[in-house]
Amino acid sequence: MAKLTVNDVDVRGKRVFVRVDYNVPMEEKDGQMVINDATRIKETLPTLELLINKGARIILAAHLGRPKGTREPSMSLRPVAAKLADMIRRPVAFVDDCIGEKVENTAKALKDGDILLLENVRYYNEEEANDAAFAEKLAKVAEIYVNDAFGAAHRAHASTEGVARFVTKRGGKAAAGLLMERELKFLGDELEHPARPFVVILGGAKVSDKIRVIDRLLEKADTILVGGAMAYTFKLAMGYKTGKSLVEPDATQVAVRALAKAAERGVRFLLPTDNVIATPVDTGKVNKKGKPVFEMQNSRLNTAADIPEDAEGFDIGPDTAKRYAEVIRHAKTILWNGPMGMFEDARFAEGTTAVAKAVVDASQQNGAKSIIGGGDSVKALNKAGLGDKVTFMSTGGGASLEFLEGAELPGVAALSNK
Ligand code: AMP
Repeated sequence: MAKLTVNDVDVRGKRVFVRVDYNVPMEEKDGQMVINDATRIKETLPTLELLINKGARIILAAHLGRPKGTREPSMSLRPVAAKLADMIRRPVAFVDDCIGEKVENTAKALKDGDILLLENVRYYNEEEANDAAFAEKLAKVAEIYVNDAFGAAHRAHASTEGVARFVTKRGGKAAAGLLMERELKFLGDELEHPARPFVVILGGAKVSDKIRVIDRLLEKADTILVGGAMAYTFKLAMGYKTGKSLVEPDATQVAVRALAKAAERGVRFLLPTDNVIATPVDTGKVNKKGKPVFEMQNSRLNTAADIPEDAEGFDIGPDTAKRYAEVIRHAKTILWNGPMGMFEDARFAEGTTAVAKAVVDASQQNGAKSIIGGGDSVKALNKAGLGDKVTFMSTGGGASLEFLEGAELPGVAALSNK
């Protein structure tokens, strides 16, 4: 069912509670918290500008980090209020709480087009517990609810779900913001009836994390290209040797079922035929989490079907990258989730970069619709400087994955229907 959007609601003179994703990376510099990357703030500007133009009185709510119910000063949203004011070129009021009298009084004094940012909702444990009394207190100041925090929509928390329920129970509307609307359009509607060929590129660490997505996409895609460590569990399931590669022996049955389903449905399911491998050597050191630190030595190309016993696969090889690029070149719709290798290390980033370039070429030269399903593939594209050259990059990680699995996200379900 299509959800109401911020465009459909009359907000003039009304107090609108807008849940945004301002969980921005911060760092302490000279005793002050500084925002390292304001992308998430920037992404909310279209919704905020629309609301301002429509004469809404805006009350922004967000979480930052994991303060676990304490008022952790390093996780205050105060610096975000200052940054937002800079970016939107108008004052942004800030209250050091998200519920209570001070919030109510400030909200009451708002004029059309004014903006108020509330303090971190996760300063209260009741937020993540979706506590009804807490949600009601948050909802007290709002006549209309807008959710623009797609990245948090897979969680039924008070500010992502509970408030919407209270607002609608009182007869108010709960609508998707513009960013949320785009997420639902590209990850939802566009993939429901994709232009063909529809090519899905899946990578990342674990098959078990993505099996529900694979299962669903096997019903829609023409071709699935697999890379990342995930590919080695498939290889293991097919009887190949995977050396020290990151595999999930418990997931081989799941991999076998996926391969059988692909064959049954006539979906082309491609796995790497060459790999960049290296020999992990224990340095004797431990990391911050107390885990042993390995050094990847002697990185080299492996063109054999098996991976040597002492080695670990870290990237797809150049032949695989070429083969995948060729498939991508002919695609009309592309969905990409998960890197082709351990791209954080330059020695193992080439496969991911080659795929990123092929996705960009298909979009720019052939008009393919390219949808990047969030998380590390977005990071990889941005790292290659190609982020603005695809059709859509999701802002969600876990939320994108759950949505692609076909799950109804609680934060979306709570919005009013059109
Ligand atoms: P995911 O969150 O499941 O999409 O996984 C992303 C992570 O998988 C990234 O941090 C990659 O470094 C990692 N990754 C991808 N390929 C490999 C590989 N062959 N071996 C180890 N880690 C990998």
